[in-house]
Order: sequence, then structure tokens, then C-alpha cells
Amino acid sequence: MRTLAKVRREPGIWMTDSPKPQVGPNDVLIRIRKTAICGTDMHIFNWDEWSQKTIPVPMTVGHEYVGTVEAMGDEVRGLRIGQRVSGEGHIVCGHCRNCRAGRRHLCRNAVGVGVNRPGAFADFLVIPAENAFPIPDDIPDDVASILDPFGNAAHTALSFDLVGEDVLITGAGPIGIMAAAICRHVGARHVVITDRNPYRLELARKMGAHRAVNIDNESLAGIMPELNMVEGFDVGLEMSGVPAAFRQMLDVMNHGGKIAMLGIPPAESAIDWTKVIFKGLTIKGIYGREMYETWYKMIALLQGGLDLTPMITHRFDVAEYLEGFKAMGSGHSGKVVLDWSETRS
Ligand code: NAD
Ligand code: ZN
Repeated sequence: MRTLAKVRREPGIWMTDSPKPQVGPNDVLIRIRKTAICGTDMHIFNWDEWSQKTIPVPMTVGHEYVGTVEAMGDEVRGLRIGQRVSGEGHIVCGHCRNCRAGRRHLCRNAVGVGVNRPGAFADFLVIPAENAFPIPDDIPDDVASILDPFGNAAHTALSFDLVGEDVLITGAGPIGIMAAAICRHVGARHVVITDRNPYRLELARKMGAHRAVNIDNESLAGIMPELNMVEGFDVGLEMSGVPAAFRQMLDVMNHGGKIAMLGIPPAESAIDWTKVIFKGLTIKGIYGREMYETWYKMIALLQGGLDLTPMITHRFDVAEYLEGFKAMGSGHSGKVVLDWSETRS
């Protein structure tokens, strides 16, 4: 089968020919239809410090996908051959305290599809059946292929009550923009998003942000009066991974505000903790998606009318995957989707 794999310890991802994976008794074999490129795949492509420490070589990469069930193990129940599925990319241990309590997203032994074990940029993917998530017929393939990052956005945004609240999102990457759409959809009063990239700020406006602020030209304190905001933001979603953005957020949070942090800073970074303390802020770290409440909520949001299709700005056949990575790396893209369905091995 065709795969896109990290085969050398240097920048790049290569098209390879690999054997079809074996299906264990509790596994499903998924025939991949579409995949999307994540920021993580870009890190792996560029072979940065984190990738060098984390990624086994050789390994097939990718974890955002939709496909159909091609085969399944004898013990699998509740799925059928031909069913359309996406999948949760964190494979949990099942025996730690949190797993046993049903808090699987807090598993301390989670393994990542396309990060620690073979991924979805392939004609076929094997995962434990419990990780497969059935996709209702009214959700198109393109949208189903980006449920993984949409799930990061949903998990982060839905951490706190948003109804009638003023929300600040720092970082209008694909996840920040999808978070803005969710906040708007569920009834936040104002959704303000920041970035330094005009293309992405424009996409954020299109997806429902009330105000998309280029922090290079405008200050948050300056736009607050315009929105009749006197005291500060009630909810903050940190989605840039940039320490300066988080510091800016701390400055404009109201007392008692709540912050959910998804963005991964490059290294240890300092903040003024007195702002956290005297404002009585709550800060919550977010990793992945809740299994499977976030998936349930995502489907409900989509079926309730949240339109994710403008997020997908580029589509390529997988043979042109290098074009896809180029588009994703340019900063002038939303999500980039690769189609695996044209030719089959
Ligand atoms: P991205 O890198 O595409 O988006 C980050 C955005 O932040 C970019 O558009 C960038 O221009 C913007 N930015 C840079 N400096 C800024 C500043 N000073 N103020 C505001 N914005 C600024 O990333 P993404 O794929 O949308 O993911 C968002 C973040 O979430 C990344 O840090 C990523 O590593 C992280 N992430 C975390 C998890 C998790 O489970 N915790 C999962 C996926 C992604
Ligand atoms: Zn566990």
C-alpha cells in the first residue's frame, strides 16, 4: 500500500510502499479516503527538535482522516464493514486510574497515531476498534477528515460556560479559528481572536469571529470600548503557543476569568503570576479530545448548523502531497486535505 512516511532523519516526508497492516482481534482496518495535514505533521516534516526526540524512523505519519471499515477482528462489536469512520488518535492503556474511571483523555500512557505508532497517511490504517468513530451520513468526507483538530477546538472551547460571555482567543491557526466558530455558534457575546497573519484573521472573520485583531496594528485594550467591554474578558482560549500572546491575554482577563490552554509553547516561559493570583484566574491545560464526549459534541455542533467547510482551503490528490505541505507551511491556508481515493493499490 502507499504511505507517506518519515524514512530518513532529515527534513521531508516520503511516499513509500509498505505492507498492509495486520488486524488484531480487537482492531479495525480502515481504508483511508481523505486525510488532512496537521501542524504536528509540519513539525515532523521539518524535523524540528521535538520530532527528533519523539518520532521513530521509519514510520508512517498522519492522524487526521476519514475512511471506511474494510475489515475487523473477531472480538469487535458495534461496527460494520463499509461504515464511514474517523478515529481518535490517542490510544489509551485501559488500566491506569483515569482510564478505569472513564477519563480516558487523562490516560498517562496514551500513544499517538502517526506520532508514536504508524499513522493514517496510508491506504490502510489499523487502530483499536474503540478508537473508531462512526460518521453520520450528513457529514461530508472533507469535514470528517478534520474532526481531530476540530475536536481540539471543541474540547478547549467547551471547557467553560460561553453563553453571553466575552471570549478572547489568542492564535488564529486552524484550531483557533474553529474555536471561534464554536464560541459564536453556542452563544458567546463577543468572540475576539488575535493573530499577526492577515490571511488567517480574514478566515476567522468568515468563520464567525466578531473581531479579528492583528496585534501588530491594534491593541486589545483599544478595541474593548468599541465592544462596550469595561471589565475584561471572561473566557480565554490560548491557541497560539506563543508566550507573548498568553501574557497579553492575562492583561485583559477580567477577575475570576477562566483560561483554557491548548497552544504548546516552545520552551519554559515566564508569566507574571501576580496577575493569575490577584485576578483569581482559573487555568486549565487541554490535551487532545475527551473520549468520546468531545466527538459527540462535535457531531451535534455540525448537525446543528456549524459550517466547517470554509476551513478547508486546499485539496490535493495524495500524489501531490508536497504541494499540500507547501500550502500548509505558507501560512496562507486553513486546512489542507489530501485525497487517497483516486488510485488504489
Ligand atoms: P498554528 O501554529 O497553525 O497556529 C498558531 C497561530 O498563532 C498562527 O496563526 C500564528 O500566526 C499565531 N500567532 C503567532 N504569534 C502570535 C501572537 N503573538 N499572538 C497571537 N497569535 C499569534 O497552530 P494550530 O494547528 O492552530 O494549533 C494551535 C496550537 O495548539 C499550537 O501551539 C499547537 O501546537 C497546539 N496543539 C495542541 C494540542 C493539544 O492537545 N494540546 C493539539 C493540537 C495542537
Ligand atoms: Zn490509561
